[in-house]
Amino acid sequence: MSLFIASLNSGSNGNCYYVGNGKDAVLIDAGISCREVERRMRLLDLSMRTVRAVFISHEHTDHIRGITALSRRYQLPVYITAATHDNRVLIDKHLIVNFNSGDKIDVEGLQVTAFAKHHDANDPQSFVVEGNGTTIGVFTDIGIACDQLTYHFSKCHAAFLEANYDIEMLENGPYPIYLKNRIRGGKGHLSNCQALEVFCSHRPAHMTHLLLAHLSKDNNDPGKALELFAPYRNDVNVSIASRYEPSQVYHINADSSHTSRVKTVQASLFG
Ligand SMILES: [Zn+2]
Ligand SMILES: [Zn+2]
Repeated sequence: MSLFIASLNSGSNGNCYYVGNGKDAVLIDAGISCREVERRMRLLDLSMRTVRAVFISHEHTDHIRGITALSRRYQLPVYITAATHDNRVLIDKHLIVNFNSGDKIDVEGLQVTAFAKHHDANDPQSFVVEGNGTTIGVFTDIGIACDQLTYHFSKCHAAFLEANYDIEMLENGPYPIYLKNRIRGGKGHLSNCQALEVFCSHRPAHMTHLLLAHLSKDNNDPGKALELFAPYRNDVNVSIASRYEPSQVYHINADSSHTSRVKTVQASLFG
């Protein structure tokens, strides 16, 4: 009753997230080169041979940079909406599988649900991957925490959640005003505080892991983000999905999360 997850890279320099059940896996986005995907998978002792499909969230370069070569080399089906694909994403025709927002797609026992997000792209999608009774969310590049996002977040045992910028660092940082407004304008990215609000208000009792994702190099600081979450995390493992290196492979076990929560509740009731 578990899934394995990892970030191969997370940030404006490239995004690629792995979710697998030990036998089969999917990648969400391929924003680093094919070579880097291969190298990082090897580092984590994960095999490309288990990857059955890639899902594309939107057409920004940091989410598609490696998709042409990766899908061709491994003959991987690429799930992409028609509107996203129209925006000049190069994929060999026979590998394209179109989906629509709201679809639930089965890939070898992993169910991937897509839903629309607020971001300045053609038809941007967030994804939830379910398998073995375990639910994983991949939520980056989100301008606002809409109802759909908070609904899906509240089902997750683990989630990659965007914490793109620190409000003051963005305000006082080097970006031109139009770019600052693009980032914080509701169709850009989620701030650390907005991510914390999602976490505090919608975290389910069974959540065990939160990976803060897509942190800005210029407008955020990993230590600062972790510090912000520390007083609220309780027994949730909060870590950073880095823009420099892959995360570890996390084993998300729905059974043990339930068991440990029940024990905690009993301990507090009777202890
Ligand atoms: Zn991005
Ligand atoms: Zn984007």
